[in-house]
Amino acid sequence: MRELVVLGTASQVPTRTRNHNGYFLRWDGEGLLFDPGEGTQRQMIHAGVAAGHITRICLTHVHGDHCYGLPGVLSRMALDGVPHPVHLHYPASGDPVVQALLAVGSPGIDLRLHPHSGAGPVADCLEVRPLRHRIETYGYQLREPDGRTLLPERLQAAGIGGPDVGRLQRDGVLGAVRLEDVSVPRPGQRFAFIMDTAPCTGAEDLADGADLLVTESTFSADDDALARQYLHLTAGQAGELAASGSARTLVLTHFSARYGDDVSVLAQQAQARAPGVTVIAANDLDRIPVPRRRQPAAEAAAPTTAIGLNHDGSS
Ligand SMILES: [Zn+2]
Repeated sequence: MRELVVLGTASQVPTRTRNHNGYFLRWDGEGLLFDPGEGTQRQMIHAGVAAGHITRICLTHVHGDHCYGLPGVLSRMALDGVPHPVHLHYPASGDPVVQALLAVGSPGIDLRLHPHSGAGPVADCLEVRPLRHRIETYGYQLREPDGRTLLPERLQAAGIGGPDVGRLQRDGVLGAVRLEDVSVPRPGQRFAFIMDTAPCTGAEDLADGADLLVTESTFSADDDALARQYLHLTAGQAGELAASGSARTLVLTHFSARYGDDVSVLAQQAQARAPGVTVIAANDLDRIPVPRRRQPAAEAAAPTTAIGLNHDGSS
């Protein structure tokens, strides 16, 4: 199962209806918690996300609205006796803040620290790119490798069945039959997470080809001077980012409290710059599925009874 559970959508100050940031991405067996702001532990209870589901925590930067929930979440994991390792990714220059937060949390979990200080992979299928904010900030991209989808009719026609299917998958060839002959390309799914930033190439890299793109959308177009001053995105810029990267679903969040509960005008501004993109202005506790896989051109005519080669995700 692959879905985003939105735990909080407020920047800077929470409101009656919007908690500070917090985003839980369920991605098959992994549970990635992004930017746990204050109150994340309680939002997880409202959303039905157990602390034991978290395998990885990713901080974009160490401003309070993105990390003050960390000690609470880690303490809860210790209380629950979470046995598996938990990986914590954060910008290296944020280490003093992270250490201070860890110092007040309860010990007892197998926490592994992974500070990063440049663009590149930080774990299997997980990459970071620098963003442009007032302190060192990175966005994340989770990228499933491209695979191939087997077509049962072609396997049958080629006389391949049983354990031979596994051999063909492993070796790419079985006798005279190549894997390509009995399968079609299956693009890997991509998730991107972009928080506090002015428009920049790092954000563009992350948004590229995203099936699900979560971006900050702090300000309305009317307040673009504030966005420039504090190095944030306007909703329109978030839309441009999604359009330039051919993203499919854009989730707007990290709203300034000045717009109150109704951020529909921000969604409209983003949508105006991103025709064809599904734009969602997130509310706390929303659950947003990762969209079905992109269909490669060659796959359009393929039977619907295809078998996924790896984990099947939402397709
Ligand atoms: Zn923020």
